[in-house]
Amino acid sequence: MKVYIDGKFYDKKDAKISVYDHGLLYGDGVFEGIRVYHGKVFKLKAHVERLFDSAKAIGIKVPVSQRVVAQAILDTVKNSPGCEYLRPIITRGEGGLGLDPRKCEKPCIIVIADTISLYPKECYEIGLNVATVGTMRNHPAATNARVKSLNYLNNVMARMEATLSNCQEALMLNHKGDISECSGDNIFLIKRGELFTPSIDAGILDGITRGCVIALARKHNINVHQCALSRFDVYVADECFLTGTAAEIVPVATVDGRAIGTGKAGPITKKLLGFFKELINEPEDKVETIEG
Ligand code: PMP
Repeated sequence: MKVYIDGKFYDKKDAKISVYDHGLLYGDGVFEGIRVYHGKVFKLKAHVERLFDSAKAIGIKVPVSQRVVAQAILDTVKNSPGCEYLRPIITRGEGGLGLDPRKCEKPCIIVIADTISLYPKECYEIGLNVATVGTMRNHPAATNARVKSLNYLNNVMARMEATLSNCQEALMLNHKGDISECSGDNIFLIKRGELFTPSIDAGILDGITRGCVIALARKHNINVHQCALSRFDVYVADECFLTGTAAEIVPVATVDGRAIGTGKAGPITKKLLGFFKELINEPEDKVETIEG
């Protein structure tokens, strides 16, 4: 497995950046998590676009085009046999010990190739246990949750709370008390055959797997509602599942100790997972289709 840093490839043990990088000092940077299926990068264009949008939103001027970053990602895969997962990162770069981003002359571009550790296989049958936690998702007046920033401390604290409750994932509420998303996944509910998920303005990451699931559901004539949802909606749902690049589509068995529906993977969740498995075999995006 190789790590790309600013145009060069390194072995894992030799991949190093400065301790003065503001990505380390202040979490000042952005990242993506991307899957590689059968040696092909899944949803490359969407991930590179979101990476650049995240960077733009926090005022990082990436010194190369989207196409150059996409090519770096593809080259990292080529140089890393057995690669299953990629972690592109753009930091503000090396600067002083003060916050001022103007001191950072050049953003640092990194792509890490790795394998992936999944939820155990049985979780896809029996479902996850999820806990609603006290750590709130980013307030909209703070950094927008649409920015996939290196500042994941909120999410880490939320996950820690879930672990302390013997749960695998944490459901975070937003400042209104509505449900937002989990520490590393988006959430979906099924009620009377229709799909419900918090809208982007609930303060969530615009998940790429979430987008795939919405498109797949519509294609198969399942109504999708993106709206405000509360814990009430979760507790009375017929089915619940989470989506994310790493998790794909994973059923939820319980939330706050209450069984959701039958308390295991429901029929619509299984159907959508089947459609998603077909989607991952589709050809990868060509770099030529990415902004040059
Ligand atoms: N929400 C959060 C907070 C995430 O970190 C992620 C990615 N792990 C997701 C949702 C899912 O997004 P995607 O489907 O693009 O991986």
